[in-house]
Amino acid sequence: MTPTRIAIVGLGKIARDQHLPAIAGNPAFELAATVSPDGAAVDGVPHFATLDGLLGTGPAVDSVALCTPPQVRRELASTALARGLHVLLEKPPGATLGEVAALQDEAASSGASLFAAWHSRHAAGVELARAWLAGRTARRVAITWREDVRVWHPGQVWIWQPGGLGVFDPGINALSILTHIMPQPIFLTGAVLDFPANRAAPIAADLQLQDAAGVPITMDLDFRQTGPQTWDIAVETDAGTLTLRKGGAELELPGQSHADKDREYAAIYERFAQLIASGTSDLDIAPLRLVADAFLCGKHRTTDAFED
Ligand code: NAP
Repeated sequence: MTPTRIAIVGLGKIARDQHLPAIAGNPAFELAATVSPDGAAVDGVPHFATLDGLLGTGPAVDSVALCTPPQVRRELASTALARGLHVLLEKPPGATLGEVAALQDEAASSGASLFAAWHSRHAAGVELARAWLAGRTARRVAITWREDVRVWHPGQVWIWQPGGLGVFDPGINALSILTHIMPQPIFLTGAVLDFPANRAAPIAADLQLQDAAGVPITMDLDFRQTGPQTWDIAVETDAGTLTLRKGGAELELPGQSHADKDREYAAIYERFAQLIASGTSDLDIAPLRLVADAFLCGKHRTTDAFED
């Protein structure tokens, strides 16, 4: 089988930590080029400052993985789809719901595959959690997603700008798991978002949600957590409590626990290869819609200024 030639666009933290090794480990793909404004390249791989530069004078590619901040992703995706290239969108798939809907139409017209990659859905405990919950009745859900922004996002100016999502940048990962493991649709019933006086995105948030069966769901997000970090989802059910820890990597069920090796990005590229082979797209917006609803209906409070 001829590998799909892929270019990584946005050679930052996640591209280097996860996309490069996942592509190198999957024979269905061949890294053909990289694109990033700052010029830092991968040895032996053609590098371009812009996507237009690659498409104008670079080697032929069949697909792109867009690993830029979300604010610039739509234009890049649209350019790639217009050329018939398959597109993998890092999470979140866009800065607005409207632009993601437009991309969906553009993918349908171009015939290329468009994939909104929610990496946390591939964490080791998530599929087991989904299967276990399918046969049980949930009573309540508590999400605690607290991390130290200075440790995980140093110098990422975009995260604090409009469209950068602030604490929802990691928080949307929890929502991607929640919307995958819970059998019923989920909607927002209330939210309070805390914006630092000097920033355009929230540093903390409290959300109340509910599923269509009336199960109450709370979500506690905070970017100011020092010491131990917390990425937990606890679901109380009629058969005991299910707890996903470490962003879904570890699963505790009544009388048993599971932890497997991390292959979130390996799974993402397997899925992207399937979509390309089958000529289909996968663009689930449920997690982004909940974040958008929190911005739309949540109470906005101003809190202390925050410096990196
Ligand atoms: P990052 O370290 O800031 O990297 C973003 C990269 O995109 C930078 O190299 C940036 O270059 C480049 N870029 C910006 N505008 C561009 C453009 N128009 N064309 C090409 N490249 C452009 O951010 P990150 O942490 O990797 O996050 C990127 C995305 O991945 C975000 O949506 C984030 O939510 C998601 N993600 C991140 C993580 C994580 O652990 N960090 C995990 C999963 C998903 P300059 O720096 O030169 O501007």
